[in-house]
Amino acid sequence: MRIVDIREISVPISRYADPTVPSGGLNTSVVAVITDVVRDAKPIVGYGFASIGRFAQGGLIRERFAPRLLAASDADLTDQAGTNLDPFRAWKVMMANEKPGGHGERCVAVGALDMALWDAVGKIARLPLYRLLMERTGATQRDGPCTVSVYAGGGYYYPTDDIACLSDEVRRFRDLGYGRTKIKIGSAPLARDLKRIDAAARLLDGPGNVAVDAIYAYTAATSPEAADALAPRGLWWFEDICDPLDFETVATVARRYAAPIAAGEALFSAAEANLLDRHGGLRRDRDILVFDPVHCYGLPGYLQIIELLEKRGWPRGAFWPHGGHLFCLHVVAALGLGGAEVNPLCFQPFGGYGDGTNVANGTAIPPELPGIGFETKPALRDFLATVIDV
Ligand code: MG
Repeated sequence: MRIVDIREISVPISRYADPTVPSGGLNTSVVAVITDVVRDAKPIVGYGFASIGRFAQGGLIRERFAPRLLAASDADLTDQAGTNLDPFRAWKVMMANEKPGGHGERCVAVGALDMALWDAVGKIARLPLYRLLMERTGATQRDGPCTVSVYAGGGYYYPTDDIACLSDEVRRFRDLGYGRTKIKIGSAPLARDLKRIDAAARLLDGPGNVAVDAIYAYTAATSPEAADALAPRGLWWFEDICDPLDFETVATVARRYAAPIAAGEALFSAAEANLLDRHGGLRRDRDILVFDPVHCYGLPGYLQIIELLEKRGWPRGAFWPHGGHLFCLHVVAALGLGGAEVNPLCFQPFGGYGDGTNVANGTAIPPELPGIGFETKPALRDFLATVIDV
């Protein structure tokens, strides 16, 4: 079997349920991997996208990584039987002659294609992705449904009526079955951020159900004051405190802030994860690791990070991947990770889950449709169907 063609388009996405609210021009790459496997008179197509939060990578995908896949021999891309693609082999093809380090947007481009490859492989194997991943990673022994703890991500600053709009958003999370949320802080004065936290906490039975994400806003100079102000709240966790490579500041906060810290979202390799662990002062008994499986060169890269940090003593329960979409739900279910972020309202149609994935008591179960199950999400299904026509 072989890959017949690969398509990519860059599309805008919004941080808000209402996409007319300005979102800084954020976009993402959507890819379709078209195979020569025909079922019901149609080729099987794997779909992927570049997760959210790091803009599109159309040039890298179209000029560098897709051509490598299309030029590879069948044997370099398929499993031993030659009847399905092997994403780990395909990953080696994509990464041929790439030097370590300097990840830039390259890691995201590879991750978008990797997601599409896994979707195609699941569809060809007639397996939902989480079951396929359990087979491929040796995690086949778990009984019962793969129930995943989830929380609703969102809570970005609104340009007007911020607290009222945030409260509406968190109320909608609660009504959708989410008991925990993560909201943004760090870009407003501390007093206003504390009001945001208190507004969310009132709707979700206390600040222990609220995590905050500073999106790297604090510095060595400003983070101690923020940490001291947040500490009495007893938040669920405090994420992305400062520049992702400023491990010294993370360690300084960890020494004075007892509640959980989350880090790793903007680190993209096992080598960087190793540095975070050695120098970030994180605590294995409570802190949270939010590496994004798509942004870390896709699942093969993410697995390298998990393997390294497990060897260094981290429990799988510490991993709560960034992303907020169906792909990460499957990854968390298959690998037995702590839980998954979900974007039920923002980043549509890519965020959140489909019609068959109910969230109840803060948990969700991955869909049983072969592949990732994007087709369970009507708006996303209809959009993806247009990608192969570009
Ligand atoms: Mg974050």
